[in-house]
Amino acid sequence: MIDRIGTDRPVFSVEFFPPKDEQGEAELWKAIRRLEPLDPAFVSVTYGAGGSSRDRTIRTTARIATDTTLVAMAHLTAVSHSVAELRHVIGSYAAAGIRNVLAVRGDPPGDPLGDWVAHPEGLTYADDLVRLVKRSGSFCVGVAAFPYGHPRSADLDSDLQRLLAKIRAGADFAITQLFWEPDGFLRLRDRLAAAGCEVPLLPGIMPLLSVKTLRRGPELSGAPLPPGLAERLEPYADDPAAFRAAGLDLTEELCRKLLGEGVRGLHFYTLNRSLATAELVERLGLARQPALPSPTAPA
Ligand code: FAD
Repeated sequence: MIDRIGTDRPVFSVEFFPPKDEQGEAELWKAIRRLEPLDPAFVSVTYGAGGSSRDRTIRTTARIATDTTLVAMAHLTAVSHSVAELRHVIGSYAAAGIRNVLAVRGDPPGDPLGDWVAHPEGLTYADDLVRLVKRSGSFCVGVAAFPYGHPRSADLDSDLQRLLAKIRAGADFAITQLFWEPDGFLRLRDRLAAAGCEVPLLPGIMPLLSVKTLRRGPELSGAPLPPGLAERLEPYADDPAAFRAAGLDLTEELCRKLLGEGVRGLHFYTLNRSLATAELVERLGLARQPALPSPTAPA
């Protein structure tokens, strides 16, 4: 899969979560089918920390791999699993034809930032999971990166060392937590380059479509809102359609700055809706085949 990440031109990739019910399944597949003709470099499916979504993640990723033309990547979290359980999931991925894994530690259920104890027969940090996946077969492995530092990291330098440890463990690329202005991402990319690291660093982009995203995004990601952004969107707070249009313009601005800085790809957090991502991909000229139906409903 790594050969699909921006060697001759920038690409885009998308992230979904495994649906919980039939309606969610239908929405997800509508979203996938809308993006398929645009040829994303890969499509990833998240894994509920502790295994809460294990079967749904395997099923959804395997179906993407077999029923579409897309390249599929399954996430895997270490938290709350023994090494034997992790090996079992990795084996299930391999059996389903999945060769790409995003190896993350995951957050302990119910207490994302609290002190936690690793499973007695498990792994403590994501670099160990990268090694386990790499030893288990011919997998392309991605890891998580944090432009403003992981919330549990003491400072940006130690955070960088943790990211480098994951890359030295064998990670082929990294995807960042979402953010709203390019500076933190570009600084992280410079620090990686200064450390001699050449693996692709893909910026994680969440289209800014609603007041809820604006309010919750910084809280969830630790990334600050750039000065003036909230003020630009404030006039649309009571008009969802106008907010969405202005938020999409702002997201496009962010993407254009990143592309102008030579990023090799943009990774979109879709929340299982793809209309906004498809619109952005087309506006940015990242689609192989323009195939967007006229937008009828916001997504
Ligand atoms: P790690 O790299 O292990 O780091 C976790 C913390 O431990 C950091 O503070 C790090 O500095 C510290 N640390 C690492 N190694 C050491 C060490 N040797 N000694 C001391 N401290 C150390 N969560 C899910 O549940 N499911 C998903 O599918 C999922 N997908 C994600 C995708 C992306 C692109 C991103 C950015 C995040 C995703 N997450 C997911 C969230 C992720 O699991 C959490 O952010 C988690 O807290 C950190 O995971 P990590 O892999 O970065 O952990």
